[in-house]
Amino acid sequence: MQALAKTVAAPGLELIDAPVPEIGPDDVLIRINRTGICGTDIHIWNWDDWASKTVPVPLITGHEFAGEIVDLGRNVTGYQIGQRCSGEGHLIGHQSRQSRAGKFHLDPETRGIGVNEQGAFAQYLRLPAFNVVPLPDEISDDIGAILDPLGNAVHTALSFDLVGEDVLITGAGPIGIMAAAVARHVGARHVVITDVNQERLDLAARVADVVPVNVAEQNLADVAARLRIRQGFDVGLEMSGNQIAFDQMVESLVMGGRIALLGIPPGKSPVDWSRIVFKALTIKGVYGREIFETWYKMIAMLENGLDISGVITHRFAATDYRAAFEVMKSGQSGKVVLDWTG
Ligand code: NAD
Ligand code: ZN
Repeated sequence: MQALAKTVAAPGLELIDAPVPEIGPDDVLIRINRTGICGTDIHIWNWDDWASKTVPVPLITGHEFAGEIVDLGRNVTGYQIGQRCSGEGHLIGHQSRQSRAGKFHLDPETRGIGVNEQGAFAQYLRLPAFNVVPLPDEISDDIGAILDPLGNAVHTALSFDLVGEDVLITGAGPIGIMAAAVARHVGARHVVITDVNQERLDLAARVADVVPVNVAEQNLADVAARLRIRQGFDVGLEMSGNQIAFDQMVESLVMGGRIALLGIPPGKSPVDWSRIVFKALTIKGVYGREIFETWYKMIAMLENGLDISGVITHRFAATDYRAAFEVMKSGQSGKVVLDWTG
């Protein structure tokens, strides 16, 4: 089969011919139709500090996928060959207290496909049947391939009650944009999204009914005043990993406001803790998606009018992966999807 792999400990990825994975008794074999390129894949392509310390070589990369089950391990029940599916790319252990309490997304033994284990940028993927998420007919393979980052957006956005609340999202990357659509869908009052990249703000405004603010040019406090957000935003969703954005969020929140942090800062970052104490802010770190509660909720929302399809701005055949990664690296895109069916 064709697969996109890190074959040497250096920048880049290579399209290779690899054996179709063998499955164990509790696994399924998935024929991949579409995959999404994630920011994580860009780190792996660039072979930065994090990637070189984390990713074994050689490794097939990629973790955002949609496809179809083509083989079942002998213990697998409840699925049939031909079932369309996506799946959770975090492979968890079942021994920890968190797992045994059903909090699978908090299992400390978690390993990621395409990061620690063979990934989804391939024509076939081996996945534990436990991780499979069936796709209803209404959800296309393109959308199925971006449920992983939509799950990040949904998990973050649903961290706090948003009904009737004024929500500030910092960072109009694909995940920030999808979180904005989710906040709107579940009934927020005003949803304001910031970035310094005008193209992404324009994309945000096309995908969701939100107020885009280019903080390199506009004053956020003025925009809030115009919207009659008097004492500050009620809830903040940090989706940039940028220090300036985080500081601006702390300043822009109401007393007692709540912040969900998804963005990953590049290193240790200084925080003005006394500001957080005196504003009585609640801050929640968000990792991955809730397994499988987030999957359940996002599929239900997609079936009931949540439309994030506009966040996919580019589609390429998998063999054109170089062009796809160039677009993704340029920062001038939303989600970029690869087609493996050709
Ligand atoms: P992305 O890098 O595509 O988007 C981040 C955006 O933040 C960019 O558009 C950038 O221009 C913008 N930005 C930069 N400076 C800013 C500022 N001062 N104010 C406002 N915006 C600013 O990232 P993404 O793929 O959308 O992911 C969002 C974040 O979530 C990233 O930091 C990513 O690493 C992180 N992430 C975390 C998890 C998790 O499990 N915690 C999972 C996936 C992604
Ligand atoms: Zn991802």
